[in-house]
Amino acid sequence: MKIRVGHLYPDYLNIYADRGNIAVLARRAAWRGHELEVAALGMGDAVEPGAHDLYYVGGGQDREQALVASDIAGKGERLREAVEGGAAFLAVCGGYQLLGRFYRERSGAELPGAGLLPLHTVAGERRMIGDVLVECELEPGARRTIAGFENHAGRTILEDGAEPLGRVVAGFGNDGESGFEGCRAGRVIGTYLHGPLLPRNPWLADWLLAQAIAHRTGEAPAFEPLGDGLEAVAHEVSAARARSRGGRAAR
Ligand code: GLN
Repeated sequence: MKIRVGHLYPDYLNIYADRGNIAVLARRAAWRGHELEVAALGMGDAVEPGAHDLYYVGGGQDREQALVASDIAGKGERLREAVEGGAAFLAVCGGYQLLGRFYRERSGAELPGAGLLPLHTVAGERRMIGDVLVECELEPGARRTIAGFENHAGRTILEDGAEPLGRVVAGFGNDGESGFEGCRAGRVIGTYLHGPLLPRNPWLADWLLAQAIAHRTGEAPAFEPLGDGLEAVAHEVSAARARSRGGRAAR
């Protein structure tokens, strides 16, 4: 099957090799006989609900976020239609922040967001930097860990009805206090974890691919497991670094 990906602002929001997440999705899809067709969705490009099975947006500095904010806010309604229609979505750090209602910079300037996730973000004085380990349960009973790297000034506040992606085992997460990381709304995943994220967490890449296929077929396939030896080592190295830095609290 051709899995259609809408990559939002690849030229603006792409720090920490976040583009690498697309490479992992493409490779793991190919190993299962599928093809990833990636379309860039940039400034002024229309979002056609139903045209993409999976949306992706990476992280970025405040400067880049300020450049794309009003454009992604304008895409908010169509993105909502797309995910209500069953499309999946992975948003990382700065892109994750812009899926919320707004991102307030340290200057006090408020960048509008797409309003797809019930959250908002306020930049703090101290940046939250380092390896992170998160425990999550995307499927009931399937408790997994996600390991990655965070670097953000933003403190993300989950609003009423918001579901966190997971519980922080080590690291700062959304705000360095709540003990939660990211936000999940059905097939929409928002996270602060860079790295890039997916090479260290291949199960999450497979979960996103399965959701994208379910958008087309109505059913999420159960993929044959792949070797993933190297990925498991990368996960463990990142998880061990996170554990060694211990818990949260970015006062
Ligand atoms: N600029 C945002 C912040 O500092 C996001 C940073 C990022 O994407 N790494 O919080």
